[in-house]
Amino acid sequence: MKILLVEDEKGLILTLTDRLTAEGYEVVSAADGEAGFRSATSDNFDLIILDIMLPKKNGYDVCRDLRRRGVETPVLMLTAKGETIDKVLGLKLGADDYLTKPFEVAELLARIEALMRRSRSVKDPINGAAAFGNVTIDLARAEVRRSGEPVELSAMEFKLLRFLVENRGVVHSRDELLDHVWGYDAMPSTRTVDVHIAWLRQKLEENPKRPAHIQTVHGMGYKFCE
Ligand code: CA
Repeated sequence: MKILLVEDEKGLILTLTDRLTAEGYEVVSAADGEAGFRSATSDNFDLIILDIMLPKKNGYDVCRDLRRRGVETPVLMLTAKGETIDKVLGLKLGADDYLTKPFEVAELLARIEALMRRSRSVKDPINGAAAFGNVTIDLARAEVRRSGEPVELSAMEFKLLRFLVENRGVVHSRDELLDHVWGYDAMPSTRTVDVHIAWLRQKLEENPKRPAHIQTVHGMGYKFCE
């Protein structure tokens, strides 16, 4: 279970990271709203603990923008006592729960467990296989079939398809796709992404000119829809 902790109080980051790690969670922390947003959109987390008063971008804005991008990770918001917070606004923007500082770590752990239970029951992870339209993907064997017939994909096409399907519903910019699929060391241009997307559509979409699954989000990038 992997948690993203977006918090600017160094003491709290240390305490929570220690306690959560001791409980068996993997913890990644970000010290301001922009860094938190970047982490949340570039990696998969099971839960985001999000402080409201943050440098650069406040928790409300981070939460709203994550939901707009299609990131559905549960969000537990933290608020300091005495801060005027608008719970209704937070919930409207997509937060799942609130906790007021200072809090007992035991209380935080209980909330985390409750949120994770809730999200596990609705989540639909890819367990070795995925399917959409008339396409089936066997992740372990790296095999893709369309109407039962094998489809030849290059290693990069498969990696790109896998990344999109595993992060379905989330919009990814061309740069993010380059980083995640091709890797930081690679030097291809964003045009490479467009070309591979076009090849995937050609091979997998019913109508590649009007893709039902591998969709373009104008001005932003691409996303996968079932
Ligand atoms: Ca703060």
